[in-house]
Amino acid sequence: VRWIYRFGDGVADEGGANAAALLGAKGAALAAMARLGLPVPAGFTIGAAATAHHLAHGRFPNGFEAEFDAALGWLEALAAPRPPVLALRPSPERAMPGLEGALLDLGLGDIATRALAQATGDPAFAQDCRRRFLRQFGETVLRLDPADFEERADAFRRGRGLPPAGPLGAEDGGALGALYAALIAEETGTPPPDALGLQLATAIEAALRSWRTPRAIAWRSLTALPDQAAPALVVQTMAFGNLGRRSGAGLVSTRDAETGAKRLAGSFLAAAQGDEIKAGARGAEPLDRLAAAHEAVAAVREGLVAAAGRLEAHFRDAVEFEFTVEDGRLFLLDVRPLARSTRADLAIAVGLAGERIIDRREAVARIDPASLDHLLHPRIDPAAPVDLLARGVPASPGAATGVVAFSAAEAEDLRLAGRKAILVRVETGPEDVHAMHAAAAILTVRGGMTSHAAVIARGMGKPCVAGAGTLRVDARAGTLSAGERTVRRGDTVTLDGGSGAVMVGAVPLSQPELTGAFATLMDWADGIRTLRVRANAETVADANIARAFGAEGIGLCRSEHMFFESGRTGLVRAMILAETVEARREALAALLPLQRADFARLFTVMAGHPVTVRLLDPPLHEFLPRAEEEIAALAGALGMAEDRLRRRLEALAEANPMLGHRGCRLAITFPEIAEMQARAILDAALDAAAETGAAVVPQIMVPLVASRAEFDFVAERVRIVAQAIGRERGAAPHYEIGTMIELPRAALRAGAIAESAAFFSFGTNDLTQTTYGISRDDAAAFLRAYVEEGLMPHDPFATLDHEGVGELVRMAAERGRATRPDLELGICGEHGGDPASIRFCAEIGLDYVSCSPFRVPIARLAAAQAAI
Ligand code: PEP
Ligand code: MG
Repeated sequence: VRWIYRFGDGVADEGGANAAALLGAKGAALAAMARLGLPVPAGFTIGAAATAHHLAHGRFPNGFEAEFDAALGWLEALAAPRPPVLALRPSPERAMPGLEGALLDLGLGDIATRALAQATGDPAFAQDCRRRFLRQFGETVLRLDPADFEERADAFRRGRGLPPAGPLGAEDGGALGALYAALIAEETGTPPPDALGLQLATAIEAALRSWRTPRAIAWRSLTALPDQAAPALVVQTMAFGNLGRRSGAGLVSTRDAETGAKRLAGSFLAAAQGDEIKAGARGAEPLDRLAAAHEAVAAVREGLVAAAGRLEAHFRDAVEFEFTVEDGRLFLLDVRPLARSTRADLAIAVGLAGERIIDRREAVARIDPASLDHLLHPRIDPAAPVDLLARGVPASPGAATGVVAFSAAEAEDLRLAGRKAILVRVETGPEDVHAMHAAAAILTVRGGMTSHAAVIARGMGKPCVAGAGTLRVDARAGTLSAGERTVRRGDTVTLDGGSGAVMVGAVPLSQPELTGAFATLMDWADGIRTLRVRANAETVADANIARAFGAEGIGLCRSEHMFFESGRTGLVRAMILAETVEARREALAALLPLQRADFARLFTVMAGHPVTVRLLDPPLHEFLPRAEEEIAALAGALGMAEDRLRRRLEALAEANPMLGHRGCRLAITFPEIAEMQARAILDAALDAAAETGAAVVPQIMVPLVASRAEFDFVAERVRIVAQAIGRERGAAPHYEIGTMIELPRAALRAGAIAESAAFFSFGTNDLTQTTYGISRDDAAAFLRAYVEEGLMPHDPFATLDHEGVGELVRMAAERGRATRPDLELGICGEHGGDPASIRFCAEIGLDYVSCSPFRVPIARLAAAQAAI
């Protein structure tokens, strides 16, 4: 084993396969730069194996001392005729604020300071370095109060009539240094160590001690760094950025961190040492401007440009590096990947591929699909100050500012007045869809990721914060309160559907940009993926958005959502409440032409692409009135006595509507509803085919099936309708009929169901709900605690539970394909837009995923990554 790894002056000891853990981020970066032949001040890294031993046993391992002395001797020899002056920098695997920072200018005892003055011919500089050493050593290693040093310096300058800041001459500087040394002796009972070896040993002990502070331990647990991991320590020859006018310290990034544009920019502090730059302002300026402003930068400009090119080529990424200029000579001190915005991330990946530094597959692989969400919607300006009122579930991404509205009428009034409304409800139902259309964003007190508000808002591409449980809504009074704070009707709020934040007032937003690097990367992703991507959409507007975002069809048209459009709820209610088959047929006859026209428009927009229409699947309660005045109004509209209506409502009331009279159960009890829908779909398909000249083959989908018998019952009704249409129109309509798999029993019986069904679409919202036995509408109240307590890795309604629900999906896919090898398989639950779930879908061999239009680009990218 070796404990110490040298770098610089043509040397770079190999850290082996585990270099990043062994040398830490800084140690590995220095070794890499040395290997590239870049100018790195010589030094060595004490590997994490040695420091871990020290942390465990209170001393370094056997054999360490000999290596350490040899390495120190090597640095002394390299420094001559100067005395060795060194920096000690902790080098954890990941940056860690709990750990002490760098310690500079080690080695400057009295004798060494004189020798440095002689070697550089600049005694004032040598004294400046010694004072820096004494202060840092006193403050960081000996833990003395910085204010004590400050006081001595102030009193000294006052006493000598010197300005309160600025450089000191050799004599003044030396005198102040002596005062610092005296302060240390007074406070600790011992003068500061003079010998480099002792200084270094003391500093190393202190750095390792700081690894054990509660703050450092807390940080590691937060960032999931294993607590056993020890930091490597870098011991390195100083490059003096404080040696006169042609010296200083700076930071350069190879690309623009905001836009990703290829240009060198950075910051620079003249006459500064190493780490001062990090504390300074980070406002990056173009390199040219820095060179014009600073002689030191001008002197090393070419070196910086060359280093930037070499570092990018080596790391195959945009980087940021620290440098020091010592009297016109360039030294590099650290390099790391550039921290960047999502927009810059895309531009950099595409740019690097364009320059052939990486290939297209790697560019595609590098982008986090979830990060695209930021680009597809307006978002909160990250620099803006916010006034947080409450937090809920981030149910539909994007940000919006608007005026609070508590009803459809208020939202509509605001829209007509050209203003943006934020619809505030305890929860939403079908009667709110009209209001949601009018609003710019939706906020609910109850509900989670798959609540009505969340699903509809995602479909509409509108921001939604759901389940903000600390809020109280009083729609009558027009108030929204959290604790002591109250927002009133007409006040402005801002929602961030990406974070779940509800903020008081207007917060500046930035707008999406879908051209340039974004479009290029999407193209590349499409070339790689095999999984197809469809959208969940029911309106022409949504279908158009879906096409614009690259959807290859509709995977789920929730036909009941087509009834939500204003004006139709009445007809739907009449149909549900009908007491006789005749009354129901009458209501259905009124709905038929509306449905037919809707489907025809959808098929026309999607001509040439598959469209899956799901037969009616409403939990009935979503369509029925609840409030007294609503019931009275409905009775009037239906021409029905109020008490009769009430009795009918009671008869229809369900204790558990989500497990009640919905899905195919509705088609089985009221086959005329399925027949009307089949007629509307098939007629519309023939109409759209005639109009567009394209083949239109609708996929009719039966919801909430548990057995083959249920499926066969509904399929037979559809077949009879298709035959009738064939006779009437002299042309048999083409269609496929398949089913949702969204109940555990359906998954178990998939082999039998596939004997009848032409395709499966996994409804993982209901499948998650029924597999876990967790109500999707009530989950938010307790699931957060599950995730916080580590009982679940994530919300299973957001990311598919691979082990449980996913196992059912896999099994159903296998059983279905065993029966029917060409069975088409898709997913249309919310998971169809979640990258981790999409990867799973690709692994188990699904043909496509279907998701909200606004998630289509995310799905395209995630599907490509699943194929890499
Ligand atoms: C599902 O259950 O996953 C599904 C897509 O249907 P819905 O969300 O309409 O119940
Ligand atoms: Mg469902």
